[in-house]
Amino acid sequence: MAQLTEAKRELKDDFGRRLNYVRISVTDRCNFRCTYCMPEEGVTCLSHSDILRYEDIMFLCGIFTKLGVGKFRFTGGEPLVRKGMVPFLKELKEAYPNIKTAITTNASLLRRYAPELAEASLHSINISLDTLDADKFKNVTRIGTIDEVLDGIRAAKSAGINNMKLNTVLIRGFNDHEITDLLLFARREGLLLRLIEFMPLEEEVWNKESFISGEEILSMLPDGASWVKNTNSSCEDGPAQYYFNEKTGDTIGIITAVSNHFCQSCNRLRVSAEGKLRTCLFNPKETELKELIIRRDGAALMEKILESVREKPRCWNDINTGNLHMSGIGG
Ligand code: SF4
Repeated sequence: MAQLTEAKRELKDDFGRRLNYVRISVTDRCNFRCTYCMPEEGVTCLSHSDILRYEDIMFLCGIFTKLGVGKFRFTGGEPLVRKGMVPFLKELKEAYPNIKTAITTNASLLRRYAPELAEASLHSINISLDTLDADKFKNVTRIGTIDEVLDGIRAAKSAGINNMKLNTVLIRGFNDHEITDLLLFARREGLLLRLIEFMPLEEEVWNKESFISGEEILSMLPDGASWVKNTNSSCEDGPAQYYFNEKTGDTIGIITAVSNHFCQSCNRLRVSAEGKLRTCLFNPKETELKELIIRRDGAALMEKILESVREKPRCWNDINTGNLHMSGIGG
């Protein structure tokens, strides 16, 4: 442990990128069965003994903070289905008051947890929502209802959580005609809408025809020429490129994860619920951290993280992507 007390070590890869943002999946379970994320029958879930316990995640976050990480996003599956998630977030923030904590959620459980999340000083919530159409929503999630999501969003707002983003994957023939409705909805609810290119993560659901590039998304926005690119957005704002509408005052983000990837400014790492570190979403190579975490071997853990980070791929084009189930990676 002696090395842990030494000066802060920097988490930098071989291409000079500083990694200061970690997304941790806390469960592979979800209360929805989205068609693009899981097969209908669900996936064989990890058992409780396979996944990191909260004490383990706390220890791991402590190591990452020593390496300069300042923001943790908790994902799943659906992070709020894991029992004890909200008290954990509170404890984590109390232990490391300078970090930012965030979750990515389908919002269905916000109705229940919003007040406690606000108390836990959560910095932001990203809500994944691909359609406002109740029937389509039912079809795509197989289980969920749009009303529980809308109630959840409102509950979070009433609890005082203002930093909320709406993440919508735009798919031709599915939701491309909903852009105006989504914009109006986001404006009404005080959310920042981000439209995301459909990524080829799962071969059986992705096809070229359903893909809409960021450039085309931009051309599809209502009020065409009124959208002005915000050149000041940094990787702190996430991977989106933001546009401001001079006429309406709206801001929208476009995430060109496929056509114009943001690899050169990528500052993120991912840890799966079982404690495997993935340095790039598209790179199937994972580094097992669990054993060192359980042994509380901070010095070795730090070395292992630093070593894996040095091997972070320059860009996703360098990688032969496989068939990746998002529920198992953490979005
Ligand atoms: S493709 Fe990989 S390296 Fe590029 S932005 Fe995504 S996670 Fe980062």
